[in-house]
Amino acid sequence: MEMEWPYDNELNVTEVVDTDVLVLGGGLAGCHAAIAARRAGKNVILVEKGATVRSGSAGTGFDHWEMACTNPCCKVTPEEMTYALVDEQDHYSNAIAHYIETREGYDRLLDMEAFGGKIRDTEGEFIGAPFRDPKTGLMFAYDYTNCYTLRVWGSTFKPSLVKELKKLGVKIYDHTEATTLLTKIVNGKNTNVGAIGMNVHTGKITIFRSHSTILTMSRPARVWLFNADTPGLCEFRPFQSIGSGHAMGYRAGMEFTMMEKSVKGEFSAAGRSYPPYGAGNNHNTWYAATMVDARGVEIPYVDRDGNELKTVLERYTPVKGQKFFLKGGVIDEPKYEYRGPETLNYGELVKRGYQLPFFADLSKMPDYERRVIWGMMVGEEGKTKIPILKNYTDRGFDPTKHILQSYGTGWQSATFLDQERQLFGAPGGIITNWELMTNIDGVFAAGDQLYASDCAGFACATGYYAGRWAAKFASDKPYYDYDKEYVNKEIEALYKPLFTEDGIDWREVNMAVAKCMQIYCGGTKCDENLKQGLLLLEDIEANDFTRISARNPHELMRCHEVRDIITVSKMIINACLLRHASSEPLYFVRTDSNNEIKEKEKGFITIYQENGIVKSRMVPHDYWGDCKVEYEKRNKDYMEERKNG
Ligand SMILES: Cc1cc2nc3c(=O)[nH]c(=O)nc-3n(C[C@H](O)[C@H](O)[C@H](O)COP(=O)(O)OP(=O)(O)OC[C@H]3O[C@@H](n4cnc5c(N)ncnc54)[C@H](O)[C@@H]3O)c2cc1C
Repeated sequence: MEMEWPYDNELNVTEVVDTDVLVLGGGLAGCHAAIAARRAGKNVILVEKGATVRSGSAGTGFDHWEMACTNPCCKVTPEEMTYALVDEQDHYSNAIAHYIETREGYDRLLDMEAFGGKIRDTEGEFIGAPFRDPKTGLMFAYDYTNCYTLRVWGSTFKPSLVKELKKLGVKIYDHTEATTLLTKIVNGKNTNVGAIGMNVHTGKITIFRSHSTILTMSRPARVWLFNADTPGLCEFRPFQSIGSGHAMGYRAGMEFTMMEKSVKGEFSAAGRSYPPYGAGNNHNTWYAATMVDARGVEIPYVDRDGNELKTVLERYTPVKGQKFFLKGGVIDEPKYEYRGPETLNYGELVKRGYQLPFFADLSKMPDYERRVIWGMMVGEEGKTKIPILKNYTDRGFDPTKHILQSYGTGWQSATFLDQERQLFGAPGGIITNWELMTNIDGVFAAGDQLYASDCAGFACATGYYAGRWAAKFASDKPYYDYDKEYVNKEIEALYKPLFTEDGIDWREVNMAVAKCMQIYCGGTKCDENLKQGLLLLEDIEANDFTRISARNPHELMRCHEVRDIITVSKMIINACLLRHASSEPLYFVRTDSNNEIKEKEKGFITIYQENGIVKSRMVPHDYWGDCKVEYEKRNKDYMEERKNG
């Protein structure tokens, strides 16, 4: 049955709107960017493809806030933590962003609390627990001695942020997808003009002109992993975030780095994994759950030297002589120096006769540890409140009595093939200067759009910081005229699928791209394959994509996503062609590795376009300089403001 489209038809309606600061993407980073710019007295527009109140990776919640080094209980300094994170990633990291995260993250958490978010145990549910600070009610995860990661009630955050945005007078354009970045050459420099947006309900076009623009549209997805039968379960991050921000930036000449890095699929459904955090495991949200084997025999935790731990508390404690350990988020196998307690590895367990399947057994844990994992963490973590906590509880799961089976051979929620890859685990993205400004004058970036991004605290802190600097930039700037011919052509291209009769569905083209990337840009690469892949992508773009059709503005948005996925895929293949030697830290493997230049390639290879030609430069590791010095040189006003409360 054909249904009537429930929204107004505003196709061919175009409006032009001016603002000081334009924020594209209303997730954690975008909301904080808008708040900072508005606090600085600027007019701010926030453009969000979904509904800001619950959009983005953290829309349904998140359970822990990493690296809040200035909280009153933390024993690790921002400098120590930043350099540890850089070292842990073999210097393929973003120290500028991590320093902002470790230095300002806790300020943002206090902001969140002031807006109505819950960041401490105000009801005293966990009084007496070793992870709860009795004075402040703050609760910690992982390392209970050093207290750098807080347990938070993340499901309360997005609604509180929207209330604050409204209070401050930020103009929110919900259900509006940003499609195109507008720039022009001013005094020889590629410069911000604004962006085009399309209302995904009505089809109305808005041309936003701004003094400065901030990109916070998350990172690419559905590049290698796509399943047309279960599209919403393809990837870990929300379905609507597929890297539009990367695509529009790349088309406009923006510079990226580490785009050659991809990891074998981890968290995803794609038709064959349990929902994240829905299988018994002992990582991240579930750290450090007690695990048992098929016979109910407890699986031992060991310290970094392999010594078996005797108590549950030891799982949360650095070993003697170790200052702190790293856990959570993207930290998988840290170097010896930062390695924390862990269960014995799978191979060793098999050797010692432990039997599959394994289970998480919270009933064997102290009451407060059980309640904080099942009920708080599983409940506040993204996508767990209804699918896991509520559904499992409704069906009778009781963690005081029942055990929860883990998946397959280990405790991950899925296993993947080598060619099924993701941009996960601090992947590539936009490279910026210390003001978080991109190579396009007046265009800033934050959150998951930055290279080597990882988490909520990172997103909020960099978002706010970018908002401050974008506001500063916006002062005394004119509005630049956009190129009308270019904009008209772009609108025509955006609408085209609506007028293509008997065309093909967006899913088919997404699937074709994913297959192309799996075959030609999979786990092991070589020039010949990559070049073939590029040719195939160009063919898909020139032929299949031009036959794509949409029946309404919502499907039209899906078509635009596929266009962006093609752009991002081309950028990824070109980035792979630019690195000639395999690189372990980047999970980059070549059969035709040129090992002679391996040493010379240690550093950041960037990628950008100029007049459609792919360009690149080499940026040395540690280009950020001394973080404390560089930060303090630029942020005296903010430091003063914080000092004065
Ligand atoms: C299931 C899950 C659990 C997680 N748990 C944790 C955790 O416990 N702790 C932690 O620290 N981190 C966690 N993370 C990571 C963390 O949530 C993200 O790193 C963080 O939210 C990124 O913020 P962001 O603003 O950069 O991106 P997002 O919050 O994803 O926001 C991007 C926004 O851009 C919008 N958008 C996309 N394209 C367009 C477009 N073309 N036009 C307009 N808008 C657009 C999207 O709709 C979205 O609202 C989790 C992530 C997921 C997916």
